[in-house]
Amino acid sequence: MQRFTKSKTMIFPREIIVGHNTTQQIAELCDRLGRRKSALIVADKKTKKLSGEDIFKLLKKANYEVQEKTVSAPTVSEVNHVINFANKNNIEMLLGVGGGSVIDITKLAAYELKKPFISVPTSAAHDGIASPRASLKHSKGSVSKTATSPIAVLADTKIIMKAPYRMLASGCADVISNISAVMDWDLAHRLKNEEFSTHGAVLAKTAAEMLIENAEDIKEGREEASWLAVKAMIVSGVAMSVAGNTRPASGAEHMFSHMLDHLGPGIMLKGKRHKKPLHGEQCGVGSIMMVYLHGGDWKNIRDALKKIGAPTTSEELGVSKKKIIEALVKAHEIRPERYTILGETGLTEDAANKVAKITGVT
Ligand SMILES: [Zn+2]
Repeated sequence: MQRFTKSKTMIFPREIIVGHNTTQQIAELCDRLGRRKSALIVADKKTKKLSGEDIFKLLKKANYEVQEKTVSAPTVSEVNHVINFANKNNIEMLLGVGGGSVIDITKLAAYELKKPFISVPTSAAHDGIASPRASLKHSKGSVSKTATSPIAVLADTKIIMKAPYRMLASGCADVISNISAVMDWDLAHRLKNEEFSTHGAVLAKTAAEMLIENAEDIKEGREEASWLAVKAMIVSGVAMSVAGNTRPASGAEHMFSHMLDHLGPGIMLKGKRHKKPLHGEQCGVGSIMMVYLHGGDWKNIRDALKKIGAPTTSEELGVSKKKIIEALVKAHEIRPERYTILGETGLTEDAANKVAKITGVT
């Protein structure tokens, strides 16, 4: 008999606090995590004002030795700054207070430092809040890196609600795109015998369905929308911890999104102010088309995105039809080792035109 040699580590957040005015609970949360009373708050200029300063005061009041580090873009040097600062100041615990970039920087620094970190999202723009992965920017784009899952998540919906609604809608689209990601994963499992985790897949789908089913309630100005979004993002992050990779939340729709990033900025639409499309917005549109290619219920995805107010067409996304087609045709080049519905050679231009047209994207 063959000897059993499998081994796997999964790390999950120990405590998740989501809701109105939860910031007030930060000191008790840190106390419960049972560490030395020494914390580093990582934030950017904006999130420092929005929440970082309050957390600083609350921890000081609870007799914590608190330091604060302001960061900007998620780059290797920025992560190293945090690491050096934490080492110099003998920091025990890191708190990432901010959006995706701040949380990614903190997550990577904590991973290198082998210290626990608490994720304190101030917006809900993507599903990295509780995931063990982080993306770093470099001169040619971005790269996904292994990091650590947060030991706890503290999400204050009162604060998240203050972020532009567009970010929240984009974050929801990112989670909804788990539907096509899981379809791709399942396909790779069947065709390439890639390792598949039923639990990871179910969790990722559940996160997406939570938002699809409650799409009516995800609207600008409603604190409940932040509540739903954050909860779904945390479930999505846990799905990635279970899988040990980003498969449950990243398939061909993410490759399409990364290819759009690679091809350059969106277009200036007549009469409308140009805004660079957000990650989740691109993934949502990609997911409509990938679910169509899988023969799935793409209209369900489109309708949910519409209700939430996330883009479903090239025009709403602010990307030219030409660029959509180019990204579809080239998307498979992004991560050749990750098998998806796009196969090894990708879509032909005719097929790309067809899928974009039928799904109403172009
Ligand atoms: Zn994503």
